[in-house]
Amino acid sequence: MLTLTHLLEEAKCYDSVRRLRWADGVVRCPKCGSEEVVKRGKDDAHPHRQRYRCKGCHRQFDDLTDTVFAGRHQPLRVWMGCLYLMGLNLSNQQIAQELGLNQSDVHQMTHRLRQAIVDNKPEVQLSGEVECDEVYVTAGHKGHPDAVKKRGVQGGGVSSKGFGAEVRSRQKSRRYSG
Ligand SMILES: [Zn+2]
Repeated sequence: MLTLTHLLEEAKCYDSVRRLRWADGVVRCPKCGSEEVVKRGKDDAHPHRQRYRCKGCHRQFDDLTDTVFAGRHQPLRVWMGCLYLMGLNLSNQQIAQELGLNQSDVHQMTHRLRQAIVDNKPEVQLSGEVECDEVYVTAGHKGHPDAVKKRGVQGGGVSSKGFGAEVRSRQKSRRYSG
């Protein structure tokens, strides 16, 4: 069976994570905030995951360090696919079908993603004029249009920094000096 995961490219998922966490393209150390960062090759087990070394605090980190995707068994594209389908308001059962996973795995994944979204504080310090955009997308009804319609009214999109919703400040974002 063709699943969404087969259509997603791991390399592009890593690109997306880098764009979301370092929107201006400047890689910053997650520990000390320094921009004095050098690349240190790719992860041995995950060829698309870039490793870095901070010249400020000498710590090593990679694309996923300190994100909800760090230290997970499933490939990044499975997590991104899951997040995407959560944004479409699909049930765990539907997500499991789409990703070719069992439902208890998906239950754990969606739980962790939701928890991360709740725990997340905006990365930028908001000041001045602040804009919030939310994206709501209704999923295909799969033969249950009424159920989807009901859920669509109550359901929100996946809200997090960069995932389905954006919070940004027009005036300034926190700049780290380092
Ligand atoms: Zn550092």
